This record gives sequence, structure tokens and C-alpha cells, in this order.
Amino acid sequence: MLLKLIAPLDGWCAALDEVPDGVFAGRMLGDGLAIDPTSGIVLAPCDGEIITLPDSGHAVTLRSPQGIDVLIHIGIDTVQLEGRGFSVKVKPGDRVESGAELIRFDLDTVARGAKSLVTPVVVTSEGVTLQNRHAAGLVKAGDLLFEVLGMPSMSQRPTDTSDTGNEAAGTGTKAVAGELERVLVISLRQGLHARPAALLARRAKGLEAQVTLAAHGRTADARSIVAIMALGVRRGDEVTLRAHGNEAAQAVAEMIAGIEEAQRMESAHAPAPAPEMRRVRSAPRDGELPGTCAAPGFAVGRATRIERREIETAEQGSGVGHEQDELNRARSNVRIRLERVRRSGDAARQDIIAAHLEFLDDPTLNEAAQQHLAAGKSAGYAWRHATRASIAALEALDDSRLRERADDLLDVEAHLLLALAGEARPMHLPLPESAVLLADDLLPSELTALDRRRLAAIALSGGGPTSHVAILAAAMEIPMLIAVGPALRDIPDGRMLIVDADKGTLHIAPSAEMLAKANSLVEQRAAQSAALRLAATRECRSLDGARIEVFANLGRVTDAVAAVANGAEGCGLLRTEFLFIDRETAPSEDEQAESYQSIANALAGRPLILRMMDVGGDKPLRYMPLPQEENPALGLRGVRTALLHSDLMRSQLRAALRIRPAGVMRLLIPMVTDVSEILAVRRAIDEIKGELKLEGRIALGAMIETPAAALTAAALLREVDFLSIGSNDLTQYTLAMDRGHAQLARRTDALHPAVLQLIAAAANAAKAAGKLVAVCGGVAADSTAVPILLGLGVSELSVVPAVIPALKRQIGGLRIDDCRELAKRCLLLSSAAEVRDLVEQTIANLGEAS
Ligand code: PEP
Ligand code: MG
Repeated sequence: MLLKLIAPLDGWCAALDEVPDGVFAGRMLGDGLAIDPTSGIVLAPCDGEIITLPDSGHAVTLRSPQGIDVLIHIGIDTVQLEGRGFSVKVKPGDRVESGAELIRFDLDTVARGAKSLVTPVVVTSEGVTLQNRHAAGLVKAGDLLFEVLGMPSMSQRPTDTSDTGNEAAGTGTKAVAGELERVLVISLRQGLHARPAALLARRAKGLEAQVTLAAHGRTADARSIVAIMALGVRRGDEVTLRAHGNEAAQAVAEMIAGIEEAQRMESAHAPAPAPEMRRVRSAPRDGELPGTCAAPGFAVGRATRIERREIETAEQGSGVGHEQDELNRARSNVRIRLERVRRSGDAARQDIIAAHLEFLDDPTLNEAAQQHLAAGKSAGYAWRHATRASIAALEALDDSRLRERADDLLDVEAHLLLALAGEARPMHLPLPESAVLLADDLLPSELTALDRRRLAAIALSGGGPTSHVAILAAAMEIPMLIAVGPALRDIPDGRMLIVDADKGTLHIAPSAEMLAKANSLVEQRAAQSAALRLAATRECRSLDGARIEVFANLGRVTDAVAAVANGAEGCGLLRTEFLFIDRETAPSEDEQAESYQSIANALAGRPLILRMMDVGGDKPLRYMPLPQEENPALGLRGVRTALLHSDLMRSQLRAALRIRPAGVMRLLIPMVTDVSEILAVRRAIDEIKGELKLEGRIALGAMIETPAAALTAAALLREVDFLSIGSNDLTQYTLAMDRGHAQLARRTDALHPAVLQLIAAAANAAKAAGKLVAVCGGVAADSTAVPILLGLGVSELSVVPAVIPALKRQIGGLRIDDCRELAKRCLLLSSAAEVRDLVEQTIANLGEAS
């Protein structure tokens, strides 16, 4: 059997390898050709029936009378346009003739909103071969594109015979949806753990298709995080992906894209921020129990236990309808409450609450609960048994990370059962002074309900070092030991204990002498850190009185408060692209204005240097698709991307210009290479000032992240008010070493004399222009680099908030003249290693001389 397919579009014909999307280029959906369109009219490539045509109008699947399915996917990542620019001419179930018009789209609108316009035309049926393919080059709609030979195999035949109400002529079949199946090998380091599961579930929820993942003899609904995690998929495992329904092909593409997204996130981020752990325990001595450090620190206190109230649930319900209403009411109360806690919490707490909210809406949990309700059980019984079944599935897995998520499920269960009883989880649990909390396990919400000031430490007989409660304890700076074992249960309440989380030991019978020593150590450490923090609240000056500003780099609204508490004198770099990184759609001007204002409020009048969105390269954003690039680090990023997406840039600038009080905000332009970029941003600012009827000059700064910007700093300074050196990028572009390259990590050192010479060039230009030069890249937090930077003329350092107290103390001990001398010598050296040696020697000599 032979089927001739005509080109559905005018354009440039190319092999699928040219499609900037691994799913199509890898032929995961089938074989075909791609067309880079020059017109916006899509024609039917053969006679057939429309099988799928989503509301977004960006893709259509047609089934030929022989049962061969052909997918035309207009552009890449066009689903997120949500129909903008597309107008559909047919609907699922329609029968069309070859050459009939199916969809029209506006080339300009789609080109601006999509990653690429290249349109794959793919035969998704298996068991067929393609021949007589159109050669690469110009193709006209109606020309022969390729021929399909053979009969589609049964596995690709429709499996869903549900009636859509449309008789399909010619075939005698109904309009049906198909089933697609793909086998994937998971290469994620930690397999399908919580984060990839959440990414897949989020994508699956928006699709008109049933999607399942199967592995190890288990099958999971792809909308359920709990079910995906319970598959226990590890790196290297095979997973069978099945999609069934109207958008089956898109669903497969979405799932593969989800896994790719998880992979990108995995390589973009360091491994999960597990608190400092010491799995190697020191050998326990008499009177000591060994444990594992989940949050570092040292504390003395009294053994304390909190009572966990067992919440009773009746098994039998009072009618299915009533119990269903009760469950819905409880879920919505818990959701409102958790949302409120999330909004007011710090970064660590926000992430944990977000995970809890996902569990509350998890389809597998909810479906299991529904089954219990249908069997006449009460809402509480239904939720508890659904939760416990999911926990049993997670606990059966040989994967400690997944088993740790059981605590989160129990936490949500406790919230929900209390809500059913008309109560809320207590926000505050009473504690005696200096409590060392002992428990078998602890839920995140139990920890956050405890009075931090009275809680000295935590010791658990069980627990996992990457559990959410451990991450919270580390964020709250509470020493925490886990896995101490059942002997913990024998410790009587009120007994004095010494918790040395750093060493992984719990002293359960300390002598009076040991207690006295431990108490004085606790006091000493507290005094040291208080002194450091107090000193950090003062203005920072060098030993010889030079004013050096120490600012904080911020990426979240909640970090601003911690930064000020640590002594930040302002924000030297607000990475605005991080504020909305998890979003599928661009934030509105109002949303941005609200976030910026909260940060400005937390800074209480201190300067806020707001960097325009730095998107592209190592920082992709889902809502701003960029074309596939051969070398993204050298492609569209920073201000280049902003100028290309001028609507998004203008909405950000408008939000930034609304920050009050006027004058606290200074705008920083990322990835500058020449003055034209600054002038373009300045023009946009001037227009917006006119629109918003604003007076006054907006201070503008250029980031020095490219050698070009460093070497032409004098020209840039004619248009900007200050420079800020982004040493992370400046180093990668100077040394031609990817900043994220693991094998080159030790050599990607900003203290390479070439990088120092570029910093010196920029600093000299700033001095000549009488303007400020700051450093906001990672090198500002490197204590070896600090004297060199000050010696080169840098007068503002912006670093992660936690480093501020120590950095201010270091600056307070430096003389700028010594720094100048040191910097001069460093510029003459030939490697970063030599620079580091020289600084260390000089510091040692200074130490000896003093
Ligand atoms: C830098 O490049 O040093 C910098 C501060 O910007 P980012 O790390 O956000 O690219
Ligand atoms: Mg940078």
C-alpha cells in the first residue's frame, strides 16, 4: 500500500534532524520531514479524518483512509501561545480532502512567541517506511513531500473506540483517539524523584490525554506525583510511556520535554542542598549515642518530648454525598491555610509547603480516597487510608530519598484530618526553656510550630538527612541529629543532654563538669556569632577608614529580610529572572511591581540594584522560549534577549520604575557588549517615564561580564552611572571555559591574571570618570580575592547574605594601601595559582609582622 503525502505548507524543506527539538529530531514520534514555513496556511497532506486538533490550534493529526496517522506540529513550543496567532478551519471528526485548508496562522505572531517556526510533518504510525522524500530546499504547498509504504502496525491502530458522535466516511470507523507508546531510558541522576515527578505531573495535568508511566511492573497516572515516585525509577531504568486520547502525540512530546527539563534543571543546579552531613560517626564513648548530623551545631538542653495527638476517624460515613462535601471542604480549608503559611514563610518553608499543596491535589491520592468514599467510608477514613497506601508504596522502595517523602504525606494527612474535625493544626506548640526535642520522627509543620527561642536542638531516633524537616532545621539554625536509634526512647524526660551535631554524638549522661564546659562553649559560640552580626550592622570601613559598601545578592523576596539581619547595606544584584523562574507564563507588570516593592520595603530605604532579566545561556525561562542555539552562552542572553522581547522588557521596566521611594532603585543591564545596548534601554526608560509621568533621573549601571565591556568601559561610562563586575561570566568569557563545566571547575578561577587585568581596566576607567565600580560576581565572596579587588579600586562588594558578617570583618582588618601594592603584583603574575599563593604568603607575612 502506498500513500502520497503533499507538502502542507510553502517553505523550506529539511530533514527532521534540523528541528530544534530533541523529540522530533530524535524521531521519537515517528519519521517525516520538516518545513520552515514562508506562508501561514496549513493544508491537508492527504485525504483523511481529523483525529486531533487541540484548542490551541498549533498541531493537527489526520488519519488517512488506510489508517496512517500524520501529525503536523506548527513550530516548536507553540502550545504555550494558547491559540494566539492560530485560526482553525476544521474540527476533530471532520473528513477532509487532500489540499483542504486546516489551519491558518500569523507567521509574525507565532515567530515572536515560539522557539522556532520549523514545522515537523511526521507519520506517527509504526510499521511503515518513507520513500521518495522531497529534497532539502524550497517546497510549495501541494508538492509531493514523501510517500508512505506499508500498513500501520496494530499497536498504532486506534484503541479507543469511544463514540465522538461523528461518523467517519470511507472507513466506517468512528472518530477515535489513538494510543502511543514509547520506551524511555531515564538518565536523571536520582531517577524519577520528587522534582521530576512534579514536573511531569504538572505537564500531564494540562493535557486532553490519559498518560501513564510504567516500570518495574507498576503503572502510574502521570498526573500523580505520588504514583510516579512509587514506581521507584532509578537512573538507567526503562519506563514505558503510554498516551491515549485526543492529544496523545502532544502528550508523549510533553512528557519527553518534561524529562528533558528535569535533566536541564539537574545539570543547572548543584545536587540538592542537603544540610552538612557527617555520615561517618565518631566511635561512641560511654554515655554517648551516635547519630547522623542533619543540621550542624552544638547545644545543651533538657530532654523534651511533644505529644502527638492521634486523630481518631470513624470508619463508616454518613452518606457518600455528605462525606464527599466534607472532604472537599477540608481540602479547601487546608489549601487556604497552607497558601497563607507559604506566603509568609522563608524560602525553605515555601518550597516545602508547595510540595504539600501538590500532595493535597494529587490525583492518585484523591482517586484512592474516592474509592473508599464510594464504599461508604467516612472522609477521614478515606483520606487516611489513601495516604497510608501511598506511604506503603514509597516505603517498599529501596530509595531513602523517596521514603523520606512519607513524612510530608503524613503532615498533609494530619492537616486534613484536623480540618475535617473542624480544627486547625496548632501554629504554636509549648516548649520548656532550652529544650532538646526527642522524637522518633518529626513533621515539618510540627517543627515550624515550635518556639525557636526555646528549642536548643533536635534528636530523632529515625529520620533522613534530606528530609524536609532536616532542611528546615538547617535553615532555622537548629542543631539536629537523626538516626540515633531506639535507645533514644529510654532517655527520661528532663535529663540534661549535650548535642554535638557537628561530631554526630548525643551525650546522654554528661557529668556536671562536662555540662559546665559545654555550656561555656555554647556561650562562647553564641557571643562570637552575635558579635559578628552586630559588627555587621555597622557601616563597613577598611582599617584605614575607606568606605566599602557591602551589599547582598538576592534572588527571592524572602531573602531580603535575612540579608538586612546579616548587615547588608543594600542589594547589589537582584537577579529578577529568579523571582518568576517556576512560571509557565510571564508575570504581569503588577505582579512584578509587587515583588520588587516587597524587597524594597524589606531593605527599608537601602539601595536596590535591580538587574534587568538576564535570560538565555545557563538561565532559560519557560515563558520566554528562545531558539535552539549551537552555543547558547554566546547567543541570545542578557540585554540582547531583553531588547528582542521588548514587550517583556517594557513591562519589567515599568514595574521597576514604580518602586517607592523614588531613587532607591538603580537599574543594572546584564551582558553588555557595547554602548548601543545601553542607549536602547535608556530610550525605553525615557519613554516609560513619559507614560508614567515620572520626573528624576534613573541611575543606570552596566554589568562588566564580557571582555568587550571591560576594555571599552570608558565609552560605557559616558552613558551609565556605575559599573558592576559579573566575575562569573567575565571569567568564563575570558578563559573560554564554561562556568558550569565540572572538569574545568578548578581552573575557572576569577583570580587568573587575565581576568584581574580586565577588572583593573574597568576600575581604572571608572576612577577616571569619577564613578563607582562594584563586584557582584562570586569572586566578591572569596576571601583571597577581597584584598585584590579593593586594591584595584572596587568600592562595593555584593555577596550572598550569609557571607556578609565575615566579609565585613575581613575588610575591617585591611589597609587599602597594602591592598593596592598586592593587586599591582598580582597583575604581573601568570596564573591563578600564583595569585593565590602570593595572597596567602602576604597575609601570613602581615600576620607575622603584626
Ligand atoms: C556574574 O556573571 O558574575 C553575575 C553576577 O551574573 P550571573 O551569575 O547571574 O550570571
Ligand atoms: Mg552573569
